[in-house]
Amino acid sequence: MESELLAQGYRKYSGEAIDVFFNTSICVHSGNCVRGNKEIFNLDRRPWVLPDNAEAQEVMRVINTCPSGALKYVQH
Ligand code: SF4
Repeated sequence: MESELLAQGYRKYSGEAIDVFFNTSICVHSGNCVRGNKEIFNLDRRPWVLPDNAEAQEVMRVINTCPSGALKYVQH
């Protein structure tokens, strides 16, 4: 799963319980991620994705609202 995502151009943001993967070329800029939880997803910060800033369930909840598939997760 992880190697496939990286091969497809996703960048990895590692967390303790869950890793987040983002592919900027797929993103349609709906903003659901940053509106969903700005502790996890914040474009004013680098890195803009911090998976450890919420419970893994919350990371999954927000990523499941991404309409494009630009965000993926892999639980440990
Ligand atoms: S929710 Fe998905 S498509 Fe929308 S801005 Fe975030 S990453 Fe891009």
